[in-house]
Amino acid sequence: MNENNVALITGGTRGIGKAIAQRFAREGYNLVINYVSDKTDLKKVEEEIKQGKDIKITFIKTDVTNMQDCESMVKKAIEVNGKIDVLVNNAGITKDNLLMRMSEEDFDRVIEVNLKGTFNVTKNVIPYMMKQRKGRIVNISSVVGVSGNAGQCNYSASKAGIIGFTKSIAKELASRNILSNAIAPGFIETDMTSVLTDAVKENINIQIPLKKMGTAEEVANAVYFLGGEENTYITGQVLNVDGGMLM
Ligand code: NDP
Repeated sequence: MNENNVALITGGTRGIGKAIAQRFAREGYNLVINYVSDKTDLKKVEEEIKQGKDIKITFIKTDVTNMQDCESMVKKAIEVNGKIDVLVNNAGITKDNLLMRMSEEDFDRVIEVNLKGTFNVTKNVIPYMMKQRKGRIVNISSVVGVSGNAGQCNYSASKAGIIGFTKSIAKELASRNILSNAIAPGFIETDMTSVLTDAVKENINIQIPLKKMGTAEEVANAVYFLGGEENTYITGQVLNVDGGMLM
């Protein structure tokens, strides 16, 4: 039974983050779920995540770009649960444009949320994991962090940065039994990709050996594989969840 385990998931009220929360809930984890939007219907999201499971969920509204707020969020998570076994850095945004047209503001914001946000939350969580001599960190990167993508130089740079960050801390923290891995999703059906036209989606599907976009649940299964109790010997890796798009 994992009922005493605790997972902190950033951006966990919708999309891939919510599916990750549902996956850990299914395994009996207590959850700390971060979000940022005022429009979030927490009651509804709580029911969707719990799906009848008797677990504790604590929602904490924090912009991951703010270091002090991240510190308060982690403190609150510890006050409520006494520990954090798993951290999933999932919060992320896109602000796509060709480099020629990309504003400095849009470049900075994507780096701040995706990469600096991952640093901010992880930095505050690891002292507790180090004391516990146990922890799992799963960072959500992207296949474009490996391959690059026209129109996404800010996003690709942030996701490539996450891979470097993940591997570096895997080396730093292995002696404390803290395992750090990244997931690189391909095209997954969520709000983030709902802006793509059917024609674009069809063109994407042609390039995917499995001939379809992935689901948030398929990503969540991979996150649980690396972040769950049974992973005791995989660290510093990037696992593509992309239907074979990038081999
Ligand atoms: P969504 O746009 O559906 O959700 C993004 C999540 O990030 C939301 O929960 C949002 O919170 C949260 N978030 C955004 N900004 C902040 C912030 N400043 N502070 C805290 N939380 C924030 O995206 P997806 O579910 O599709 O993506 C999840 C992750 O997966 C991202 O890191 C994304 O880059 C990555 N990914 C997605 C792919 C895809 O095809 N969908 C492909 C590859 C990677 P709120 O709801 O409160 O706004």
